[in-house]
Amino acid sequence: MKGRSSATTSATFFTEEHIAICEAVDGYLDHLGDRKEKMLMELATNHYYPDELLEAMGELGLYGALIPEEYGGSNVGLLSMALAMERFAAYGLENTLALLTTMDTLAIIAGGTQEQKREILPKVATGNYHMAFAITEPGAGTNSFNMSLRAHKAEGGFRLRGEKAWITGIDRANRILVVARTTSREEIKEKNLPKSFGLTLFLVDPKDPALNKNKMNTAGIEGFSQFQLYFDDLFVPESDVVGEVDQGARILFMALNPERILGASFSVGMCDYFISKAVDYSKERVVFGDRPIGSYQGVSHPLAKLRTTQEAARLLFYEAAALYDKGAPPQRVGTLANMAKYLASETCFDAADRAIQTFGGSGFVEENLLIQFLAGARLSKTAPINNEMVLNFVAEHDLGLPRSY
Ligand SMILES: Cc1cc2nc3c(=O)[nH]c(=O)nc-3n(C[C@H](O)[C@H](O)[C@H](O)COP(=O)(O)OP(=O)(O)OC[C@H]3O[C@@H](n4cnc5c(N)ncnc54)[C@H](O)[C@@H]3O)c2cc1C
Repeated sequence: MKGRSSATTSATFFTEEHIAICEAVDGYLDHLGDRKEKMLMELATNHYYPDELLEAMGELGLYGALIPEEYGGSNVGLLSMALAMERFAAYGLENTLALLTTMDTLAIIAGGTQEQKREILPKVATGNYHMAFAITEPGAGTNSFNMSLRAHKAEGGFRLRGEKAWITGIDRANRILVVARTTSREEIKEKNLPKSFGLTLFLVDPKDPALNKNKMNTAGIEGFSQFQLYFDDLFVPESDVVGEVDQGARILFMALNPERILGASFSVGMCDYFISKAVDYSKERVVFGDRPIGSYQGVSHPLAKLRTTQEAARLLFYEAAALYDKGAPPQRVGTLANMAKYLASETCFDAADRAIQTFGGSGFVEENLLIQFLAGARLSKTAPINNEMVLNFVAEHDLGLPRSY
């Protein structure tokens, strides 16, 4: 397996710091040698993302990429983090827990108290402290405002009652950032409040006895499992509320662009994984005469087209991340971030599909890891946000078309 494609090292975007991070990550991945392949096999067999990689990402400064130095972060920025994550994904080693932890970290930076920042951010920066993110419920996925998990005011804090579903990495996380409803939908309607009002963010210990967990039978993220969560009047002290009560949505919106950009970096990296495997195989496999199948344009052109769209997606997420780091207006970053997420995830799924086609029957042999990773490539079109909502964003904000929902 070749790993990352070499076409773009787009110097126009890169500072010396970006290049240094890429070199450090490449050095680490090179040093792993054949162990990368063994880790992948383990991922596909045991569905457990290696602790060693999480720690290495911490040591490389990636978990602290968006954390200010005063809280122990490396503060190297989103583009640095995305470049690094793309490189890990090029070997199939995409890290969903890093994406979730980053979203939570951004919420704490935006809305957390000094105590929360001082307690949590330095630990996250080490790469040994992980956070899950719980917003989805059986009846509230794309439309989070439908959520019904309630947080009722109690002496010294809140009591949470209700459920969440599809929550990734609960068994590996030190904390969960839970979104719960502090004002009912009825009250919001009655008082004519904005529908984004009434949600609050809570830090919850995954081991709290009032939290019941049920592992789901899901595919899509090889290294981390999904869980249904049942909150049985779980008590959260006031000191674990992040940001203002009823204003959680406002804080979460700030984390959406980085989430899209990091998601795109994973998908672009995974494209390298699929395309390079297909290319290597098509150079070796001979079916008719003595020329390999890679010489057939029916095989090579689809791969060349995928490389072309992959490169476009890569440039989009580089640009979006660079603009984010420069503090560009969120709407401007958002358009590019959504475009990048869309193109990267569609191309990633097509690349997985095309790699399987190139491998013929061998594409279905589990040890070749293509059929194993197909679900993950497909997931990127649906979660954390489906591509219809991504196109809705572009239609509304770039084309100026009216909303349909
Ligand atoms: C493997 C996996 C891991 C996950 N991890 C997490 C996690 O860690 N934390 C968490 O909170 N959630 C997580 N999720 C949940 C995920 O974010 C949701 O599944 C996703 O947001 C879609 O919500 P839904 O399943 O309710 O689909 P629905 O909201 O029911 O939507 C179904 C479909 O309807 C279409 N649709 C909906 N609205 C529109 C619209 N306005 N315009 C056009 N089409 C539309 C889309 O095609 C969409 O796919 C995970 C899901 C999976 C599968």
